[in-house]
Amino acid sequence: MDYGLTEEQREIVTLTDRIGREKIKPVREHYDVTEEFPWPIYEEIKRAGLLGVYLPEAYGGTGGNTLEAVLLSEHLSQACPGISLAVTTSAPCAIPILLFGTPEQRTRWLPDLASGDRLGAFSITEPSAGSDATALRCTAKPDGDGYVLNGVKNFCSGGEAADVYVVFASTNPARGARGISAFVVEKGAKGFTFGKKEKKMGIRASPTLELHFQDCRIPKENLLYKEGFGLFVAQASFDFTRPAIAAQAVGLATGVMNETLSYIRMRRQFGQAISSFQAIQHMMADCAIAVESGRALLYATARAMDKGLNPAIAKAIKDDTIVYDEMKSLGVERWSMESAMSKVVCSDAAMKIAVDCVQMCGGIGYMRDFPIEKFMRDAKIMQIYEGTNQIQRNEIAAGMIRLSAQENPS
Ligand SMILES: Cc1cc2nc3c(=O)[nH]c(=O)nc-3n(C[C@H](O)[C@H](O)[C@H](O)COP(=O)(O)OP(=O)(O)OC[C@H]3O[C@@H](n4cnc5c(N)ncnc54)[C@H](O)[C@@H]3O)c2cc1C
Repeated sequence: MDYGLTEEQREIVTLTDRIGREKIKPVREHYDVTEEFPWPIYEEIKRAGLLGVYLPEAYGGTGGNTLEAVLLSEHLSQACPGISLAVTTSAPCAIPILLFGTPEQRTRWLPDLASGDRLGAFSITEPSAGSDATALRCTAKPDGDGYVLNGVKNFCSGGEAADVYVVFASTNPARGARGISAFVVEKGAKGFTFGKKEKKMGIRASPTLELHFQDCRIPKENLLYKEGFGLFVAQASFDFTRPAIAAQAVGLATGVMNETLSYIRMRRQFGQAISSFQAIQHMMADCAIAVESGRALLYATARAMDKGLNPAIAKAIKDDTIVYDEMKSLGVERWSMESAMSKVVCSDAAMKIAVDCVQMCGGIGYMRDFPIEKFMRDAKIMQIYEGTNQIQRNEIAAGMIRLSAQENPS
């Protein structure tokens, strides 16, 4: 379908597809088995200038936004969702800095994340705080001209490979959810070390680690936005990062469908290609319907978000203000429900499509020297991270009830 992409957006697609075909597919099994960070691929994508496609030119990006981030994740994931996540893990770090950072903070961290000279990561989850982020125990005690960070975060994508982390901790535990604040922490800070590296079912090219903070001092200049607004920073940032998860799912679904189609056209049983059986054709048609519906919702959501976000970014850069404050002053909508819907629709579709593709391929689909089973293992996480699909449904329903109450107060 023609989604009316601009020339620059089509260029992202063409370049990413070429890297996927020529560089990622030949090595994806290696990184799945070894669970190493795919540095050579990262360097390739960095050289192609693709790592900053979603960041403003003023900070070394190429001036795109959510839709550009979506296209990059989608087309990398067609070749390998694990490598796609590993190389784009800076986005959930850069987006809260872009939205909530002061002009100084934007200038300090975004150019290196845009160029790929430094890799970013995002860490809110803790062993006792997953879906319920308000239960986090990590503390950032105000102390003189900074904060002292203590506690353990877990399941941090990017792990030890990253250099810059957006970390959430409580500056005032007595205030519960309203005591949580967001900080930028750099690798090498005294008292910041790494713990367990997880062994995972899928997306194994992307490292997932614990972060340990023991009396780790961070300067007050590293506080993002205001004390006590951490949860708000996280939630508003998720609106803009969840489309990239939906994009991973759309890319995965497209990749696994394409590779399955090649196989079922060639595989013969009962004297004919298995692609000629109606039972197989209907499964394939249902896969195509689901993925295209998801993609249409995702692109529409990303476009709607960017329409509001881009003027706010331009104004914040011109006036040396904070992007989120400009979004508020310009009355920009957040599209939280649509962002959550895109993540649910696309990740649920990708999971079902990957399972169906294994089924269509039969026994070979189950084997590790054939790429289909890896797509199935990679798909599951998309229904879990950045908020499980149950949590997304809770948020969508809460949004519907809120809107109804606004429209029909009684
Ligand atoms: C590979 C991987 C990478 C990750 N990367 C990152 C990262 O980079 N940064 C980061 O901060 N986090 C990361 N995470 C954490 C991820 O976001 C959480 O795992 C996720 O939010 C779910 O939290 P949980 O695992 O504690 O599950 P739990 O919260 O324990 O949930 C368990 C089950 O209960 C359900 N449930 C919980 N509460 C409700 C409710 N109110 N209503 C309905 N159902 C509910 C959930 O949907 C789920 O099915 C990653 C996780 C994984 C596995």
